[in-house]
Amino acid sequence: MFKNFKSVEKCTYGLGTFDKLGEIIAPKRSENNKYFLFLVDDYFQGKELEKRLPILEGDAVEMIYAGGEEPKTSQIDEIRDRYLAQKGLPAGVVGIGGGSVMDIAKALSLMFTNEGSSVQYQGLNLIKKAGIYHVGVPTISGTGAEVSMTAVLTGPTKKLGLKCDWTVFDQIILDPTLTTTVPRNDWFYTGMDTYIHCVESMTGRLKNTFSEAYGHKSLDLCREVYLNEGYGQTPINDEKLMIASYFGGLSLTYSEVGVCHALSYGMSYVFGTRHCFANCVIFNVLEDYYPDGVREFKEMVRQNDIFIPENLSKDWTDEQIEKMIDICWALTHMWKHAIGEDWEQKLTRNQLKELYLRM
Ligand code: NAD
Ligand code: ZN
Repeated sequence: MFKNFKSVEKCTYGLGTFDKLGEIIAPKRSENNKYFLFLVDDYFQGKELEKRLPILEGDAVEMIYAGGEEPKTSQIDEIRDRYLAQKGLPAGVVGIGGGSVMDIAKALSLMFTNEGSSVQYQGLNLIKKAGIYHVGVPTISGTGAEVSMTAVLTGPTKKLGLKCDWTVFDQIILDPTLTTTVPRNDWFYTGMDTYIHCVESMTGRLKNTFSEAYGHKSLDLCREVYLNEGYGQTPINDEKLMIASYFGGLSLTYSEVGVCHALSYGMSYVFGTRHCFANCVIFNVLEDYYPDGVREFKEMVRQNDIFIPENLSKDWTDEQIEKMIDICWALTHMWKHAIGEDWEQKLTRNQLKELYLRM
């Protein structure tokens, strides 16, 4: 396997580092139309963090509602067109929020300089020009969006990322104090995304020492946060989970995700189910593929007293299940990793249907 991936250029880590944001972006302020666009999870509207934004005259703040549907191509196009028409090209964009807001920031950075709809760039290396300077500030830990090469969007025909070297953030600020207010269920579901990233990246054909080294450390941190003595949503565990998320992202960058993520993309596409929650629902029934991981996951669910719904499939139509299978069948890179180059000989649509029916 050969990969040649770009890393986040600059990373600041530590309690209270969010307050360095103004200083960090200052040298970039003279670029383009000399204003910064701050995309902020609307949970922070009216909260203390909003007052700490380093806003100067001319800057813009766009509050993003992340509690509903996942980021869409139409949403990116609309925000891009509106700002270009009203204020021109920003000097930079800062995404402050979870995977949703960070992916919107990454996608916008690219779409500010690439003409047409973001729909045409869903895929690998389809973007033609470098985007504008972009900064990510996670406020919930787990997706690894702060470090990954992709900005996942749902479009008219698929859920797929804008994936290329230019997608990667120029700068991230990892300040664990920003995650202390995350609701308990989101804290669990999003943290489990990291856990599942590592189990999948370390299990398939593409696993290697690079991804295993980051994966092992990330899994250990997840165990400290969700299982071992001192587990739970505490300030020290917020620090651990933020690093687990970052390491989990690096683990999968040099490997690949697997069965759970493939099935999850199908579910999110058809029902709009949120990524991390969908992963938990799906991983819960994947003991045939990841027996040790699923056993430990169930122990984490039990210990943290989290509700993972079952029997959802009783309300699904055949047509919906077939559509989910279409979407997940197309994710060949995940199947090659999880099952092998000859995955089409080993896997049938019926097996996928059987898995969906277990949920
Ligand atoms: P999210 O951004 O969707 O937010 C989940 C909820 O938590 C929202 O209601 C939000 O308002 C709230 N929230 C965020 N921070 C908070 C805080 N500090 N206090 C209180 N509430 C807070 O969460 P997520 O799970 O991080 O992101 C999911 C998205 O990430 C999906 O769209 C998925 O496709 C994407 N994703 C991207 C990658 C990638 O590599 N780019 C990887 C995995 C998932
Ligand atoms: Zn994921």
